[in-house]
Amino acid sequence: MKWTGRRQSGNVSDKRLSGRMIGGVGGLIVVGLMLFGLFTGTDTSGLIDLAQTVGGTTQTETRELTAQEQRELDYVETIVADTEDVWNEIFLQNDMDYREPQLVLYRDSVQTESGSFASAAMGPFYMPSEETIYLDMSFFEQLRTEFGARVKTDVSAESGDFVVAYVIAHEVGHHVQKQLGIADAVAAKQATVGQTEANQLSVAMELQADFFAGVFAHEQQQILESGDIDAALNAAAVIGDDAIQRKTQGQVVPDSFTHGTSEQRAYWFNLGYQTGDINQGDTFKEVLGESLS
Ligand SMILES: [Zn+2]
Repeated sequence: MKWTGRRQSGNVSDKRLSGRMIGGVGGLIVVGLMLFGLFTGTDTSGLIDLAQTVGGTTQTETRELTAQEQRELDYVETIVADTEDVWNEIFLQNDMDYREPQLVLYRDSVQTESGSFASAAMGPFYMPSEETIYLDMSFFEQLRTEFGARVKTDVSAESGDFVVAYVIAHEVGHHVQKQLGIADAVAAKQATVGQTEANQLSVAMELQADFFAGVFAHEQQQILESGDIDAALNAAAVIGDDAIQRKTQGQVVPDSFTHGTSEQRAYWFNLGYQTGDINQGDTFKEVLGESLS
C-alpha cells in the first residue's frame, strides 16, 4: 500500500520503549493465551484478568526509536488517519458524529489506561471502555511465521504491507460497532443466552468488524497496490477459527467458534470491499438467522 505523503493521525501513542516485560515467568501462560486473544473484539476482559497474573517487571528504555521503528510509527499513524477520514465521512453521510479512537503501540506488554495488564501474545485488541486499540507490531511477524500469512514485516518508504492496515481497520471496526451501539446490544444479549449463542454473537461481531475493514479498503482503492486485497483475504483466512483449531487441536468444533471460519472472514471482508456500503453488513442475520434487535 502506498502510504507516504499523507496525513498522520495525532491519536497514536507509542509506548514501545516503556513498560517492557522482563523475565521468563510469563512465557508459558502467554503461549496459552495466544490463540484466544488473536484479533478479539469485545471478549478480552477475561484474558486481561489472566494476563494480570503473568507478572514481570517493567522498565523504560532511554534510547531513541530506530529508523525502522520510526517508519512503523509513521505508517501506523497514516493508516489510523486514513480510517479517521473514511469513518468521519461515512458517519457524516449518515448524520452522525464519529468519535475517533486512540491507538497505543506497545511491545511485549502494556498497562492499559484502566490499569489492566495486557500481553502482546493476545494479539491486537480494542478496549471498548477506553475506546482504544492496542497493537504490538510483532503480531505481524507471528502471522507470517506461525500462521503462514503473506505479510512483509518491514515497512519501507515506498510501501507498507496492507495486512497491517487490514488488522487496524478490523479493530477500528470494533470501535465503529461501539459508536453504533452494536457492541452494547451484543454484550447485553450475550449476558442472557447460553454459551453457544454467545459464541455465535461473538462470531457475528468479528465478521462485521472484517466487513467494516472491507468497507474501509473500498474507500482506499486509489492507494492500494496489486496484491493488497489478496494479502488481506489471505490473512483473514489463516486466522479463521477453523484454521486455528485445525492447527492446534487437529479438529474443528464449530460451537466454540468466536471469530468465524476462514471462509466467512474472507467473505465478509470482500463483501465490504466490493460494496463499500455499511448497510450490507448484517452479519447477525447471517450467523443467527435474525438481525440484532
Ligand atoms: Zn476482532
